Amino acid sequence: MPTVPFAPDVFTWPADEPQLIGSRCGVCAAVTFPEQPSCPRCGSVEMARRLFPRRGTLIAWTTQEFLPKAPYAGGETQETFKPFGVGLVQLGDEIRVEGRLTESDPEKLHSGGEVELTIIPFREDGDTQVVTFAFKPV
Ligand SMILES: [Zn+2]
Repeated sequence: MPTVPFAPDVFTWPADEPQLIGSRCGVCAAVTFPEQPSCPRCGSVEMARRLFPRRGTLIAWTTQEFLPKAPYAGGETQETFKPFGVGLVQLGDEIRVEGRLTESDPEKLHSGGEVELTIIPFREDGDTQVVTFAFKPV
């Protein structure tokens, strides 16, 4: 089954070692995720594409215990939904990114722990597997 990202230009794909895609302002050095055409801090359009480190530190996390409302576009239904973790991850010294976690067991998650970017199934569109990014404890 072919796989496509849930949105373009969020992470490098296809890739053996995918990375999140952001941007960095050439004027004030502000860093954004996802990529933006102009700087949210100073308004400059001198934004350069930036690939973030694959590994980071879990700063804080929680668990999503119920099926999120729209615009969430995952493939689960009320019947198939399983709780998942959501974490705030520090990537390098540049940026903090909120993302889904592959783990929702509080025993296996702790603030300060190392996590790595991974790509997981999100939903199926016909015969295409839509994928999204997540962080897994390492
Ligand atoms: Zn700027």
